Amino acid sequence: IKRDKVSDLLKSTEFGKEVTVMGWVKTFRNNQFIALNDGSSLSNIQVVVDFENTANEILKKINTGAAIKAIGKLVESVGKGQSVEVKATTVEILGESDAERYPLQPKKHSLEFLREIAHLRFRTTTFNAVFKVRNALAFAIHQFFNERGFFYLHTPIVTASDAEGAGEMFRVTTLDFDNPPRDEEGKVNFKEDFFGRSTNLTVSGQLEGELGAMALGQIYTFGPTFRAENSNTTRHLAEFWMIEPEVAFADLEDNMNLAEDMLKYVIDYALKNCEKELEFLKGRLLDEEKNKPQAERNELNLIEKLRFCLDNDFERITYTEAIEILRRSKPNQKKQFNYLIDEWGADLQSEHERYLVEKHFKKPVILTNYPAEIKSFYMRQDDELVNGKKTVSAMDILFPGIGEIVGGSQREERLDRLEARMDEIGIPKDELYWYLDTRRYGSAPHAGFGLGFERLVLFVTGMTNIRDVIPFPRFPKNAEF
Ligand code: ATP
Ligand code: MG
Ligand code: MG
Ligand code: MG
Repeated sequence: IKRDKVSDLLKSTEFGKEVTVMGWVKTFRNNQFIALNDGSSLSNIQVVVDFENTANEILKKINTGAAIKAIGKLVESVGKGQSVEVKATTVEILGESDAERYPLQPKKHSLEFLREIAHLRFRTTTFNAVFKVRNALAFAIHQFFNERGFFYLHTPIVTASDAEGAGEMFRVTTLDFDNPPRDEEGKVNFKEDFFGRSTNLTVSGQLEGELGAMALGQIYTFGPTFRAENSNTTRHLAEFWMIEPEVAFADLEDNMNLAEDMLKYVIDYALKNCEKELEFLKGRLLDEEKNKPQAERNELNLIEKLRFCLDNDFERITYTEAIEILRRSKPNQKKQFNYLIDEWGADLQSEHERYLVEKHFKKPVILTNYPAEIKSFYMRQDDELVNGKKTVSAMDILFPGIGEIVGGSQREERLDRLEARMDEIGIPKDELYWYLDTRRYGSAPHAGFGLGFERLVLFVTGMTNIRDVIPFPRFPKNAEF
């Protein structure tokens, strides 16, 4: 169907030309002025209906939410705030909308309300902006890796591997629950659940990604990841997208540089390609800030915050240094922590991470060399002990307002060390024979990380709830659409 996109028309100066616009009615005033949006632009185009020529029954159906087609001349607008409008001689109703029942009445809606009608929220300016930024960031990520010669490797979604032995997995099953296979004692044999294998939805493509890197040199994955976290936080989803690069012949420092370069590249891309969207989102946030008491208001606006992130080196400190900083933090700040970090070896809670980033350094921080105890088996053991304890070449990147955005490490490439560690924590080596083969045949130093895509979108859009940056959020009891 031939049509003119609103985004093109708003830039056009071909006055007098006949155009065809199709879109959804946002508002209809004085039986004459339609604000029409077709998704291509955050802005609506004004369609002026020649109501003397338009049948009454059509005028009655130009309701908020209706889809219409309008044909007419593009003219210079006399009204304020818009450059062009369409003087429509024909208006056709493509799809009616019951003005009373349409949930998106023309007024400002709360994000909580919009989350309840997530299937319709795409039509709001806010979500138009958020999902355009999301799209741009996804594109920029592919472009970044492509420019650097990485292979986009598709790792499996259904897998028998549980990656970290960490639990939190969704099972994938072909079991007939009405008539399940049973063992001798009559218990349901879940081992049979995927054509005779026990399988899950992937929690990370890393281990498979390492196989790719140890042949292709540098790969990245970018796909859906699943975690059965029965939690209701503003930072966790049950289904999220993760970017996981893996690089052969690379160490922790290369890994940190790659992550920092990549984050800056994609943020810069969004600043350059989503100017209108980010301006809109900035305005939205500034409105929200006005409702806060002065002391709690953010000093930087969204765009300044993103620029600041580009213009400054991320702070790089070790876990041990971070613990020292947290210990020294003033008593009144300590009170904000649910528990104090006095023991070296404890895992940081998001309140600690946010203290380091937002209060202490006031910029992104890369934390390295965590205690081995609180990190995964595949991370490379450091040569020197700290406080008599083992540490690993891990790195977490912490962002203001977000907390952990990236988790990564140099991988343990020494077979003996890796096997010893697996034995220590009880990870069955035979099940991961394929992983260990990379260490048996031509092992080499390598490193990689996982970036939570939605956490990146949160940071760039300034949204505060992860459910508002993914089109179809999955969280406990929410999987309808
Ligand atoms: P967190 O400590 O926030 O629970 P994690 O340490 O469990 O995260 P990793 O296993 O390190 O997460 O995964 C790598 C990245 O994936 C994280 O740094 C984060 O950006 C993102 N991520 C992890 N879990 C989720 C989730 N449930 N929803 C959205 N993003 C997530
Ligand atoms: Mg987690
Ligand atoms: Mg974590
Ligand atoms: Mg992590």
